[in-house]
Amino acid sequence: MSGQRQPVVGILGGGQLARMLALAGAPLGAKTMVVDSSADACAGQVAPLVVADWTDYAALEAFAAQVDVITFDFENVPAETARWLAERVAVFPAPQALAVAQDRLAEKTLFRECGLPTPDFMTVGTREELDQALARVGTPAILKTRRLGYDGKGQFRLAGPADADAAWAALGAQAARHGLILEAFVPFERELSVIAVRARDGEFRTWPLTGNWHVDGVLSMSLAPAPDLGQLQQRATALAHTLAERLDYVGVFALELFVKDGELLGNEMAPRVHNSGHWTIEGAHTSQFENHVRAVLGLPLGDTAARGVAAMFNWIGELPVAAPVLRGVDAHWHDYGKQSRPGRKVGHATVCAADAAQLAIRLGELAVALGREEQAASVLQSLR
Ligand code: AMP
Repeated sequence: MSGQRQPVVGILGGGQLARMLALAGAPLGAKTMVVDSSADACAGQVAPLVVADWTDYAALEAFAAQVDVITFDFENVPAETARWLAERVAVFPAPQALAVAQDRLAEKTLFRECGLPTPDFMTVGTREELDQALARVGTPAILKTRRLGYDGKGQFRLAGPADADAAWAALGAQAARHGLILEAFVPFERELSVIAVRARDGEFRTWPLTGNWHVDGVLSMSLAPAPDLGQLQQRATALAHTLAERLDYVGVFALELFVKDGELLGNEMAPRVHNSGHWTIEGAHTSQFENHVRAVLGLPLGDTAARGVAAMFNWIGELPVAAPVLRGVDAHWHDYGKQSRPGRKVGHATVCAADAAQLAIRLGELAVALGREEQAASVLQSLR
């Protein structure tokens, strides 16, 4: 970008995703500003932070005047706020794409229209409708809020119809405000995600599919490229491309998938850079963060090929002490600069290797250093 004024990327939400976007934008010559309602939002450690909530239009007006383009670290920014901003400055992804990804019903409907099957589901607005949905969808099932759910939040698992009262007690109050959806529980063989990026001119790329392992609905570990995919990579790429074209999407998004009987089912779409793409920082030629900044600034995209194989461990709640772990293992360390809190994503580590055999050794060492051998076992199993 030499010879030009440095572009300023405005990010709505100041968490770790904004922080990693800001760090990736710097070598491109991009400056970053973030908005968050919390004064200690961790992206504020690496970029100027405006403390404001999503309806503080005076603050948002001043923010919009200082940036060249606006994007998201957080998909639950009210679509109304995104639309209001889009009347003042370029917003990518566009508010209508954000609106689809914010609503599990709109999202699943779009998946089906694009040829991606989803788990059986029914919308639920009342206690009676929950019974009707249970009769149709069957059990086990998961009751989810249509909006504002992420990382397993706003979800209740039902083993049988007898759990309906408990599910309603947990989520019924949200039915009127956000709507609910009852989904069949899928006994999937594996979980995958495809991270994709579409540029302003329509250029489209995907990274190799990532294999994911969740604990209590929260991502725990990822492995990329996911092994033994057969035709699934081509199929996931084609589906992601269709979705991106339908939404006229600009930027990075993640499509979370279940594999059942060897076929893909769509779980959800995240209209932003994604936790399961963190391995791309060290494990791919261009990271999801760099390509997102390139896309929203109208730059050509970088190569999304993997450099080798990579595995990522999430730190949930508390960060281990870095030195003893890094002394024993060749790993990349990411401390988001957040306070410890149960269930909170506070950092991650990535191990990279030339091939699966070497990765298995490094991952085994890291798991031992962390006392997470049990969790790593299924990842190691899939490397054999
Ligand atoms: P979500 O917030 O919908 O992405 O759900 C978080 C995690 O919960 C998923 O990654 C799965 O591990 C699990 N999960 C969600 N929905 C289902 C489902 N219908 N069947 C089985 N597992 C699910």
